[in-house]
Amino acid sequence: MNEMNFRTFASAEAGGTHSTDVIVVGAGPIGLFAVFELGLLDMKAHLVDILDRPGGQCAELYPEKPIYDIPGYPIISGQELCDRLIEQIAPFHPTFHFNEMASALVKTPDGKWRLTTDQGTVIEAPVVVIAAGGGSFQPKKPRVAGLELFEDKGPGLGVHYAVRKMEPFRGKRIVISGGGDSALDWVLNLQPLADHVTLIHRRDGFRAAPHSVAQMKALVEARKMDFLLGQVMELKGENGVLDSVVLEDNDGVRSSLPADAFLPFFGLTMKLGPVAEFGLNLHENLIPVDTEKFESSTPGIFAVGDINHYPGKLKLILSGFHEVALMAQQAFRYVYPERRLHFQYTTSSSDLQEKLGVK
Ligand SMILES: Cc1cc2nc3c(=O)[nH]c(=O)nc-3n(C[C@H](O)[C@H](O)[C@H](O)COP(=O)(O)OP(=O)(O)OC[C@H]3O[C@@H](n4cnc5c(N)ncnc54)[C@H](O)[C@@H]3O)c2cc1C
Repeated sequence: MNEMNFRTFASAEAGGTHSTDVIVVGAGPIGLFAVFELGLLDMKAHLVDILDRPGGQCAELYPEKPIYDIPGYPIISGQELCDRLIEQIAPFHPTFHFNEMASALVKTPDGKWRLTTDQGTVIEAPVVVIAAGGGSFQPKKPRVAGLELFEDKGPGLGVHYAVRKMEPFRGKRIVISGGGDSALDWVLNLQPLADHVTLIHRRDGFRAAPHSVAQMKALVEARKMDFLLGQVMELKGENGVLDSVVLEDNDGVRSSLPADAFLPFFGLTMKLGPVAEFGLNLHENLIPVDTEKFESSTPGIFAVGDINHYPGKLKLILSGFHEVALMAQQAFRYVYPERRLHFQYTTSSSDLQEKLGVK
């Protein structure tokens, strides 16, 4: 299954209130496999991730690097592992909330958990699984004078470190800075609808995929956009309304470019972020769990993958896969307190095979 498939089968619009069996914070490899183990035991999941796609570190930090220690795969790239996990969990129809930060967690009067995102989405469930890895990915900010004055000025205006919706950028004068895949992808996606796009990068070499660079250069050749060598030094405007960016070229000469929006793409860094405010017991920014159920000291809240801590913990993908299997056994007891749990193999259980759609 490729990226198109995950986009078509499972993304929710921001906002609204949802009710489910399990909320999974983080759609990295471990959050994804949690959906599988939960699904086998009849539990539905909603996943929240600040990234715009599943895969966590594997997809964001090393999509093309080979991994050699996934059982059953002598060699598999970070991206391929994510694609395989997406394919494996498809029978359970998880709901993804991408581009959303899980920002607050409280208990409801009826004993459930209510998670709220920075986009106003509310999800309620009896169980929460924190699969937040090394924390949420957050943008690295460039050193540009006046940057903060133009942040949070609404869709399509001022400074944006990610594009959540393209339509607000229609008809805008956009300056994009950076030389990686994000910068080039957004140049190519926004150019058709913008009034004008200018890409600014320190040098004529790019880290982005060569075909994206070739497409960008063809647009410059056709005079449909500009590419300038240099760095953005300052943002200018009045009352928080961006008006222009000040560019310094590699000879130190400064010039001004009109702009409604400035999009710097300088990579991402991982920070624990709002999970630290969830009221959980933390040990050096990790969540201590028991190794029987991988539950935190707060009943109903589990921690799996890189975010948890226990004696002997190894931050490996295969450790996380084991953890979610045991987590699901205990989660079942919260979601279905009246039901008995029977251990079954996928090879021999017609019930499990039916759930997987293979029978
Ligand atoms: C370069 C490199 C090479 C590696 N090689 C290997 C290897 O060969 N073998 C191996 O087993 N492991 C390897 N690892 C480690 C492996 O990638 C991690 O163990 C694995 O990614 C952990 O998965 P996870 O799902 O727990 O967390 P992550 O992959 O970190 O995913 C966590 C997700 O949670 C999201 N998130 C966190 N907080 C929030 C929030 N509040 N709101 C919304 N979203 C949030 C993040 O955006 C992220 O997408 C490697 C790591 C790196 C960096």
